[in-house]
Amino acid sequence: MNSIYTLKNLYDWDEESKCLGLIGDPIKHSISPQIHNAALAAMPGFKHWRYYKFEIKPEELGEALKLFYSKRFMGLNITIPYKVEVMKYLGSIDQVARKMGAVNTLKRDGKLFKGYNTDGYGMEAALVRDFNMTLQESVVVILGAGGAAKAAAMQCLLADCKAIWIANRSQERLSALLKALGTMGRGKVNVFDLNNIESILTEANILINATSLGMKQEDPLPIDLKKFKPSTLVMDMIYNPSETRLLVQAKEYGMKTTNGVSMLVEQGAKSLEIWTGHVIPVSTMHQVAREVLCQF
Ligand code: NAP
Repeated sequence: MNSIYTLKNLYDWDEESKCLGLIGDPIKHSISPQIHNAALAAMPGFKHWRYYKFEIKPEELGEALKLFYSKRFMGLNITIPYKVEVMKYLGSIDQVARKMGAVNTLKRDGKLFKGYNTDGYGMEAALVRDFNMTLQESVVVILGAGGAAKAAAMQCLLADCKAIWIANRSQERLSALLKALGTMGRGKVNVFDLNNIESILTEANILINATSLGMKQEDPLPIDLKKFKPSTLVMDMIYNPSETRLLVQAKEYGMKTTNGVSMLVEQGAKSLEIWTGHVIPVSTMHQVAREVLCQF
């Protein structure tokens, strides 16, 4: 169920079932096939659908997408490093994905695939599920300025948050993010310096780590939570390891925490809903994700 396929396999593809796939590079650690196949198995009428993962190299992307279409794939998930690059190969792009400037879901449509972005949705759905908290009227601190931070910031604006405070290591990437948020962010988006967090402390009620700091054991903390209110809700988008140093520190200060598993599952469930148009067994997906990650 968790085999890795390549472009070569795609040339010879003759699966009878309705196929879905994930493409990225590297792809080895992805648990999406286990989560999606468990959901499909639990959905009446979808037992003949299957989800596979493909490691596609940068020079293969255009050719691979043509093949996925001609081999009648119903949909695809797109992950690192292709969420932006893939956009030039699509027939159309949904409005939210266009605003996010990135696509993580493709659906078979007309003569080509149509692009969607479910990352922002997944982030907000995870906050609702794990904290019973919506973004509306919230003051959100976002660490990072890459693709995940951009989806988070855009979702905050779409959900009418009160304010966003963003910090990033590289100022160049931070400026590019502010430019991308454009007029939507006017009056709501603020920047802060990680060495001077006083300005954000009184207001912040949600803090999201959207940097990759914490994936490696030796990584430093992306921010020191010491001065934040104990009521601050802390989400780390990282799910492996399941508890980063940031989440350990947050718990020490009595803060509620969640890692990136719920976001991963919720964005995947939304993709599955786009492909099938059916009610998705989201609880099954959450359960399977946690079981699979326990084995890592
Ligand atoms: P990305 O576009 O490569 O961005 C990486 C971010 O991390 C940038 O802001 C980068 O800062 C920062 N960063 C990396 N190394 C750093 C270091 N040593 N010190 C300080 N900052 C550092 O990646 P992404 O796609 O946004 O993903 C970011 C994280 O979110 C990853 O851990 C990814 O696994 C996670 N994620 C989770 C989900 C989920 O469903 N749970 C979905 C998407 C992403 P610079 O700009 O300064 O390089």
